[in-house]
Amino acid sequence: MNSYDSDRIAEILLLAGHIKTSLPEDADIVVINTCNVREKAQEKLFSDLGRIALIKAKAAEKGRSVIILVVGCVAQALGKEIFARADCVDIVLGPQAYQNIQKSIEEVISQKQCPEVKMQKNFIVDTTMSAEDKFKLLPRNRTLVKLPSAFISIQEGCDKFCTYCSVPYTRGREYSRPTSEIISEANQLVSSGAREIFLLGQNVSAYNGKYSSSAVCSFTELLFLISSIKGVERIRYTTSHPCDITTELMKAHKEISSLMPFIHLPAQSGSDIILKKMNRGYSRSQYIKIINEFRKILPNIAFSSDFIVGFPGETETDFEATCALVDEVSYAQAYSFKYSPRPQTPSSKWDQIDEQTKIRRLAVLQEIINKHQLHYNQSMEGKELLVLIEKEGRYENQVIGKTEYMQSVHLSAPKNFIGKVFPVKISRGFQNSLSGKLVG
Ligand code: SAH
Ligand code: SF4
Repeated sequence: MNSYDSDRIAEILLLAGHIKTSLPEDADIVVINTCNVREKAQEKLFSDLGRIALIKAKAAEKGRSVIILVVGCVAQALGKEIFARADCVDIVLGPQAYQNIQKSIEEVISQKQCPEVKMQKNFIVDTTMSAEDKFKLLPRNRTLVKLPSAFISIQEGCDKFCTYCSVPYTRGREYSRPTSEIISEANQLVSSGAREIFLLGQNVSAYNGKYSSSAVCSFTELLFLISSIKGVERIRYTTSHPCDITTELMKAHKEISSLMPFIHLPAQSGSDIILKKMNRGYSRSQYIKIINEFRKILPNIAFSSDFIVGFPGETETDFEATCALVDEVSYAQAYSFKYSPRPQTPSSKWDQIDEQTKIRRLAVLQEIINKHQLHYNQSMEGKELLVLIEKEGRYENQVIGKTEYMQSVHLSAPKNFIGKVFPVKISRGFQNSLSGKLVG
């Protein structure tokens, strides 16, 4: 989602006449988009700001002023505290306020030209929380399109309030974009060359956007609408919450041929006690039931997940239940994180697990996840898979594509095959990728 937001920010700035530079030393405006989900991501902001402050100071010595903006979820969570920790920053904009970026920049420029305020620095903070207003004001035309796989945010914010998560406090309440807006964005992306539409949201399966003045559209209905757009060869989505998976959605995976048989379905933990403390709203057996029902409808479907280790109160038995869940589901891939206490959340106030235990549990879990991933990738050897060629590889005549199951495949093919789907015979399965040959 941050990647989508960064593209939209760049689109606004390009439309206002700014140009992009690849070197921060050349920039008059630096925008840092931020993530607040874990503390590590937040700390990265301040180390980046340290580096950029030096660039700003050097530019000032030459009489050139640089405007620095911090955007996104850390901006929302810390607000004006950011100025106290990094006084090089001029503007702080939350994730639902970046449509105002150009206006804020113009305001800072006019302040800089005004001698009375030169002495006393004025900061701009906008942490408005309305996703609806943001989408209304974003440019209609998508000009920066990552090809051939393009993101569209369809839903933002979250009402689930998992006890570890900062998203409801930074992105705000759940908001679904109107259906017509999404369809028009998808049409535009396809006419610019996108072949895969990747739908994004904190909880896409809860999508219920306005379809007309009296009707709403469910997530499954939206998938059908997108699949009917000529030129859409693949549809993916992330993230879906287990509680909002419906039988209709499961069936849609069989009925819509362009809907990829790969689902990111975060479990977070395999222990019922921890799932309850996390306020996830499902038990281990309910989660497994969803996986089994999906597999009954579509036997070849693959899953990925997110896991948190070291949640407050997690015992060895709870942790072992998580490892056992990974073995039981046998994920094609999975992300795992050490629990990071986020200041706004309830669980940050509970008794914490020590860092060494978290480190050890993460290493153990990742080994199990990796074992399943390698096994899954190796099970593809000798198979013929459909691969969307996405980009050039590192070597001459090499390209990289994606299977329907999200695996990266390295193969030899001419550059003009990028953006098209080809059958590829898989020769080797590695830890993080596959290699293969074009068929025919
Ligand atoms: N809406 C998605 C997740 C969004 S956040 C869902 O419900 O699954 C992405 C991932 O970050 C989460 O799945 C979780 O595994 C991880 N995460 C969120 N808060 C965290 C925290 N405080 N510490 C560690 N990991 C966290
Ligand atoms: Fe965070 Fe996802 Fe839980 Fe919402 S459902 S609170 S985004 S982890």
